[in-house]
Amino acid sequence: MPRHIRFPQTKRDRTVKAQLVALNERLEAMEQRHCLLRRTVEALGRENGVSVGSPCSHCEKSYMLIKNGHMYCPHCGHRRTM
Ligand SMILES: [Zn+2]
Repeated sequence: MPRHIRFPQTKRDRTVKAQLVALNERLEAMEQRHCLLRRTVEALGRENGVSVGSPCSHCEKSYMLIKNGHMYCPHCGHRRTM
């Protein structure tokens, strides 16, 4: 049996392809926004003597903030000493 059989594109194939293209565009836009926000948050932190740590292990809804040797979650208030 030949390996590469070309099936004619159905209307559904074209719809799926268009959806994938649209999703890819949305994903790229979101990645770019995420990058901008991340840089802005890090710059804000630097200006205020705070650095951004790993995601909160307690609620996972925010990154931990690090200030004066203490880590805390701005969302749930979970604290950890470093
Ligand atoms: Zn938290």
